[in-house]
Amino acid sequence: MIYLDYAATTPLDPAVLQVMLPYLSADGAFANPASTHGPGYKARATVEKARAQVAALLGAEAAEIVWTSGATESNNLAIKGALEFHGRRNAHIVTSRTEHKCVLDTCRHLETQGARVTYLKPGAGGLVSPEQVLEALTPDTVLVSLMWVNNEIGVVQEVQRLAPLLRERGVLFHVDAVQAAGKLPIDLRETPIDLLSVSAHKIYGPKGMGALYVRKKPRARLAPQMHGGGHEWGMRSGTLSTHQIAGMGAAFAIAAERLASDAGRLSGLRDRLWQRLQALPRILRNGDPGRAAPHILNVSFEGVEGEALRAALPELAVSSGSACSSATQEPSYVLRALGRDDELANASLRFSLGRGTTEAEIEQAAEKVIKQVEWLRELSPLWKP
Ligand SMILES: *Cc1c(COP(=O)(O)O)cnc(C)c1O
Repeated sequence: MIYLDYAATTPLDPAVLQVMLPYLSADGAFANPASTHGPGYKARATVEKARAQVAALLGAEAAEIVWTSGATESNNLAIKGALEFHGRRNAHIVTSRTEHKCVLDTCRHLETQGARVTYLKPGAGGLVSPEQVLEALTPDTVLVSLMWVNNEIGVVQEVQRLAPLLRERGVLFHVDAVQAAGKLPIDLRETPIDLLSVSAHKIYGPKGMGALYVRKKPRARLAPQMHGGGHEWGMRSGTLSTHQIAGMGAAFAIAAERLASDAGRLSGLRDRLWQRLQALPRILRNGDPGRAAPHILNVSFEGVEGEALRAALPELAVSSGSACSSATQEPSYVLRALGRDDELANASLRFSLGRGTTEAEIEQAAEKVIKQVEWLRELSPLWKP
């Protein structure tokens, strides 16, 4: 099996696992980090060390990191929390059609509560221009939510150019940075983003763990979505999961160390894969290649049927569209938003590379795809050479 689905999830880094294990046993720091006794303080120290590690990768202050159960929760907390805090009935949100499902579904939910949402259509390369965002603003716009790197096509949005423009206009800016963290340099001291979501399991940390960056200066205000003991400055109640948090901290620290070398290696492999696939005529790369994240390559294959293509590649763990939308077997809404028709969107593969990916795997994957696409095209009534 060749695993090329690192954008869906990554395995735990073995060093991360070692960091996590002691917090799960009776002789380790298992105490509640909120408890005011020796063992509690010890667990608390672990949590705070991890908070500083996550903050460091983002160029943030430790006190700006709020622990969550993953980026789905972070995105929910950012968007619902900001809107609820502002409490305006006719509040307006600007986002794009190519956001992750958890952002789009949150926005859809808020529409049922009276909010207005503009879903911007990106250009053919998947980019939403800052100008497009500014044009969509109204006096009622509370929040703009835009992802840094798209999880399906890997396109890198111009969030660094957009952020100061939104700051000038007093509009909150939320960024889903799940696929950017550990892949691209992020410095929140220089980029005035107000809210930013990250996840542990996309960068070799544990599943079920994430964080939301909430800016302190100027302070981004949120209504909590999880009520209870008032943990996390009242923004997210619930006993902190010390082992998960320690794992996320370790994963982020490793990502910071490896950022430049990982990005260089992965973009080289990504380019090699694309170059090899071009042995096939009439294939299309999805997403502007000039603004591509290092780890994602998305390709549409003309003249083959999507389901047949996937069935012909059983030893390749790749994603068609995204993992969530493939459960519903519908053509990817991201590719549809770029203007691909249903047939082409279906006949697309997302290759996402990671630390375990080797040159040999890339060669084998390319070979298999080329062979199967050629074979399917020969059989296909859709293919007219
Ligand atoms: C995976 C992913 C999410 C969801 O993260 P979880 O931690 O799995 O909830 C959100 N946004 C993007 C861009 C993702 O790739």
